[in-house]
Amino acid sequence: MSKPLNRRLFLSGSVGTAAALTLAACGGDADEPEVADVDTEDFPEGSTMARLAEAGSITIGTKFDQPLFGQAGPDGDPVGFDVEIGKIIAAALGIEADGIEWTETVSANREPFIENGQVDIVVATYTINDTRKEVIDFAGPYYEAGQALMVLVDNEDITGEDSLEGKKVASVEGSTPAQYILDNHPDAELVPFDTYSNCVTALINGQVDVVTTDNVILAGFVASDEENLKLVNNGETFTDEPYGVGLTKDDDDFRDFLNDVIEEAYESGAWAEAWENTAGTVLPTPDPPAVDRY
Ligand code: GLU
Repeated sequence: MSKPLNRRLFLSGSVGTAAALTLAACGGDADEPEVADVDTEDFPEGSTMARLAEAGSITIGTKFDQPLFGQAGPDGDPVGFDVEIGKIIAAALGIEADGIEWTETVSANREPFIENGQVDIVVATYTINDTRKEVIDFAGPYYEAGQALMVLVDNEDITGEDSLEGKKVASVEGSTPAQYILDNHPDAELVPFDTYSNCVTALINGQVDVVTTDNVILAGFVASDEENLKLVNNGETFTDEPYGVGLTKDDDDFRDFLNDVIEEAYESGAWAEAWENTAGTVLPTPDPPAVDRY
């Protein structure tokens, strides 16, 4: 449930100014989301929100090698849609962009990084599912992707998931797409890597036949190398991958707060602005998915 406290924060704060969001990756000056004027006493004593707001800093895990969502920029800090979602969350806690410590997370270390407190949240093309919910919690979803396939431009024989038999299929350890291949395509050879950029290198080098993960991740790689890469069947998807913000299990106040922040970003236009400046440069703007306050 929305807490009156958060409503108040948003009314008095200014997270909602969509115009405040632009992206450094686009080459312009980086206007960050306007930071809420937060009085830490507005947050429940002992809450994660109070702790982070008091510290004026937050550690956010994200990807550093995925174009459009989280990719290291010229200054080493990542840029992309997930990064903008992280900035919107930080701003709602009264934390400036330079108070965000970005930590690279790969698919396999996201739950452990949350569990052992190495990061406060993870915003990293992170599919909400029940297995992960056994050890962490999720706010969101704030976007819905789906699993797809990517091949070299001259590949004609892989036309969909039904043509994976005997193929070398690259994906990332600890990801839902890798698990999907293991569960549904035992006749394919899954070749696991630690990151998607390493999957792409293997595809270009001819070590594997196909890369599989979420359509929007693959679309980012294709957009950055259209000469060599293409999506199979125009990026046809065969799973649902709702992206959530990962947080410590059972921190219900913080989860409610994060869900409020996401919904407020929908209403204010900040979410759409974040999308259009990042992934939206390549992909159509979707309708934002309903937040699931499970
Ligand atoms: N969304 C999928 C997952 O969370 C694939 C993308 C990724 O590995 O980050 O496993």
